[in-house]
Amino acid sequence: MTNKELQQRREAAVPRGVSNAGPIFAASAKGATVTDVEGKEFIDFAGGIGVNNVGHCHPKVVEAIREQAGKLLHSCYHVFQYEGYVALAEKLNALTPGDHAKKTVLVNSGSEAVENAVKVARRASGRPAIVASASGFHGRTLLASTLTAKVMPYKAGFGPYAPEVYHIPYAYCYRCPVGSSYPGCKMQCAELLKKSFIDMVNPESVAAVILEPVAGEGGFVVPPKEYFPRIREICDEFGILLIIDEVQSGICRTGSLFAIEQWDVVPDLLTSAKSLGGGTVISACTGRAELMDAPQVGGLGGTYGGNPVSCAAALAVLDVVESENLVAKSQALGTKVRSAFEDMAKKYDCIGDVRGLGSMLALELVHDKAAKTPAPDIAKALVAKCRENGLIILSCGHSGNVIRTLMPLVISDAELEKGMSVLETAFAEVAK
Ligand code: PMP
Repeated sequence: MTNKELQQRREAAVPRGVSNAGPIFAASAKGATVTDVEGKEFIDFAGGIGVNNVGHCHPKVVEAIREQAGKLLHSCYHVFQYEGYVALAEKLNALTPGDHAKKTVLVNSGSEAVENAVKVARRASGRPAIVASASGFHGRTLLASTLTAKVMPYKAGFGPYAPEVYHIPYAYCYRCPVGSSYPGCKMQCAELLKKSFIDMVNPESVAAVILEPVAGEGGFVVPPKEYFPRIREICDEFGILLIIDEVQSGICRTGSLFAIEQWDVVPDLLTSAKSLGGGTVISACTGRAELMDAPQVGGLGGTYGGNPVSCAAALAVLDVVESENLVAKSQALGTKVRSAFEDMAKKYDCIGDVRGLGSMLALELVHDKAAKTPAPDIAKALVAKCRENGLIILSCGHSGNVIRTLMPLVISDAELEKGMSVLETAFAEVAK
């Protein structure tokens, strides 16, 4: 079957709402290279949207899956328990920030992890409201898409949304909407959280504030050093819980196991998913033991949550994180990619900003370097040109004008060079 034949079948069988980066069908993948059904190889700077930090089909992950699949595929944790679930919960309790007692519930997607964090926060606090950021992304289920702010394509026509969700209008946007910049702005966007308690919601009815440490879909924005400590302070002042959504930024992407470690802030609840499962379906909500124990028996979980195969894969991923020193790899990769991006920014006027943390890096594309007018058309053309030449790379940002890197952290020098050279060629052609 060719890509074209499969694309025709896809168009007839799968709704258009399920977006695709291109009309390409993968047949196999290894490390940071994906081979399509026609035998063409692609360097993968998307990593399954941040899922393949340990690389495609890491041998230890594949072996763990094989071994587990032959022993116990599914029993439902609510029916027959198994050690893998407990072992993964123990690992996440130990590895997430803070040395207090923690507990973990395992579910199936980033959205579900977020939903569970909200359930726990509400049950534990007895308060209904949740405050999120207007630049945040938390998923596509009803509550998660209520927390997500961006209307197109995530919200238009899907309402009514869940009640008692409030958005801080501007929180670490990549272009300050009132034209300020750090440090001159004195982080007014953090103070907006406090202001929201006057304008939007009674702080005594707020269960939690949920934020991504680095805005992912929102454009790879890294808040200043003082941002999260200040948010933590405001939360503490009003007895509000802090949920940190590490679904995209977690598992070494930013140069630490979890990004929030770099602000030295301990959240009450932390969500992880994506690269945790190394490609299998799993996500987690980890939090203070007394909060996690607030929901009644039977209030948390689901048929597939913490499936034995996914638990085995996630445990293998966490082994690889240690044995291959993925934190250091992410830092080294980030340094290399950032320096290549900064060189490109000197050459091409359409690059308005190079930013990110560790190897969660991005290029913001603009029409005017001074005014920073968003250039989603250039981003689109660039992504298409890269795809034509064998590189898969994704855009993000509220204006769709940010190019981001989520390549496997185990990418080889040869794969990285090849990918960078395709990107450079695309810039030379598109940014003429
Ligand atoms: N939170 C964040 C920060 C994410 O980046 C995503 C996915 N991009 C989600 C939640 C939702 O995850 P999922 O698509 O697995 O539901």
